[in-house]
Amino acid sequence: MADGEEAAAQVAAPLRDTGAPTIFDKILKKEIPSTAVYEDDLVYAFRDISPQAPTHILIIPKQRDGLTQLIKAEEKHKELLGHLLYAAKLIAVQEGLEEGYRVVINDGPDGCQSVYHLHLHLLGGRKMKWPPG
Ligand code: ADP
Repeated sequence: MADGEEAAAQVAAPLRDTGAPTIFDKILKKEIPSTAVYEDDLVYAFRDISPQAPTHILIIPKQRDGLTQLIKAEEKHKELLGHLLYAAKLIAVQEGLEEGYRVVINDGPDGCQSVYHLHLHLLGGRKMKWPPG
């Protein structure tokens, strides 16, 4: 493979869970800035740096606790998972999205997950299409 092709293949390679700290740890520690929209004891929500809709917010657990991706969820995470979803509803109301919105979890390489710290995408402010790509 030519150098250029190899570089392109690496860029296109799907990311996988390595258990390594992610950029979201730095966001939680305020080592890199984020625009907060909601916070409570368990979750933090901030605006996505590359918004795919007029409103695009990420909702993450403050403690990753093994929850790199949804498929790693265990019985002990059930309450936190419900809490994340309820936070999505609170934020949707706060953002004035009563007409509708979408909550997405990209899970694993085929789900196009790029950051391995479980997160919900809350997207709204435009009419969504189905099916997603
Ligand atoms: P994808 O990149 O395919 O959407 P994920 O579901 O893992 O995969 O989403 C990670 C999200 O994190 C992306 O929407 C990306 O724009 C967002 N993101 C990455 N870095 C930052 C950052 N520093 N601040 C806010 N959002 C970020």
